[in-house]
Amino acid sequence: MAKENLLRKQWYCPSFLPSLQQFSVRPCGVLRVIDRDRRSEYAFGMRVQIHADSRGLRAGLIETPHGACATPAFMPVATQGTVKGLLPSQLREAGIEIVLANAFHLSLRPGVERISSLGGLHKFMGWDGPILTDSGGYQVFSLAGDAGPAPSTPTPSAPSDEPLVVRPSERAGREDPLRKRPHGRTANAGVQVTEEGVQFRSPVDGASVEFTPARVIAIQRSLGVDLLMPLDQPVAWPCAPEATRDAMERTLRWAALARKEPLAEGQALFGIVQGGFDPGLRRESAARTAALDFAGYAIGGLCLGEPRETRRAALAAAIAALPEDRPRYAMGVGHPADILDAIALGVDLFDCVLPTRNGRNGWAFTDGGIVRIRNASHAGDSAPLEPGCPCPACSRFSRAYLRHLFHAEEMLGPSLVSIHNCTWYARFFAATRDAIRAGSFEAFREGRMRVWGSS
Ligand SMILES: [Zn+2]
Repeated sequence: MAKENLLRKQWYCPSFLPSLQQFSVRPCGVLRVIDRDRRSEYAFGMRVQIHADSRGLRAGLIETPHGACATPAFMPVATQGTVKGLLPSQLREAGIEIVLANAFHLSLRPGVERISSLGGLHKFMGWDGPILTDSGGYQVFSLAGDAGPAPSTPTPSAPSDEPLVVRPSERAGREDPLRKRPHGRTANAGVQVTEEGVQFRSPVDGASVEFTPARVIAIQRSLGVDLLMPLDQPVAWPCAPEATRDAMERTLRWAALARKEPLAEGQALFGIVQGGFDPGLRRESAARTAALDFAGYAIGGLCLGEPRETRRAALAAAIAALPEDRPRYAMGVGHPADILDAIALGVDLFDCVLPTRNGRNGWAFTDGGIVRIRNASHAGDSAPLEPGCPCPACSRFSRAYLRHLFHAEEMLGPSLVSIHNCTWYARFFAATRDAIRAGSFEAFREGRMRVWGSS
């Protein structure tokens, strides 16, 4: 414990934070270093090097004890300790560098002690790269029916007839535990929110469970993950101002408690900005969360059915109040148009179930838009899903074969399209980083928006 506290003190010691005058300029002159390489100062934990241009566009590197990820970065969702349908080696080959798992689900099944006794989550799931875990705040409040709109509400930036729509119960790391309800429990699952935390009945076995700010940190500490999230309370869209402020204030009080908890060596704790859809509250939440001095900042409670402009305004307000030198993570933001919006505002990390969920449904992301592989038009098509894509689905198989797999209900079909979609997301983010570094992001964004939505 003493060692952990010492490490925390080192990690957060203000004297290590670079002043504005210490920013250096890269030879290309386009990007400046916000956070200098602090290898000498920090012998442990997350190190961040972020470069930003005058418009706030950012490209960087987050280094953890389990390796690095270039930012902006996309995290496929491994809710249950697996990115559905992909081997860890296939994730690597797809170009994925970091994944998101879910502390809520894993703590209920198979249990933190089981995973810890088997060597921690990295070893358990066979992924040796960085892992970020969501705390479970969203899932708990989903159990209560408090977070998110009715499942039919479409994400505004996606045409309503496409499964690009991220239903709130299926958002990143937030696949609805109520879809499997072996004990026939009702939607509120006995959820009770108190100042101490949240009590609810486990959707796995009906047991009474309590999540407190300290416990969710302890769970993630035992899992041995790299980036941790505190317990938070999101609100639904729409939400009354008083309820939004109540949830925001509670999230802040819980954040302060979480911040006091010890971390394992090498772990980094993010704060979560809430504040609903009111830019003023978002700004206040961000400023007060930043005052607690977290290693990075997540912006939660978005993509719940709100209009795109509302989402963009909430994100912009939050980001304006966050420190430049810490990573920013837009939780559950995964539609390509929303990703481009958020990157333009200065977001570094993203997660979403879209690549794998759409993959399982036979919807493939391509540079030309969504390809529905089940369609009859592909029945005799010998072309790959996407020419030039290096993934196994595109380099070895035809559209006709992939369509056949789906119609024959062969499990290889969903797996191959999921691999392709993860590869597409990794390549999309790599192209975005290249465009930012080259100073051509606006042209890049314009071109992509012609496919994925109006700007
Ligand atoms: Zn492919």
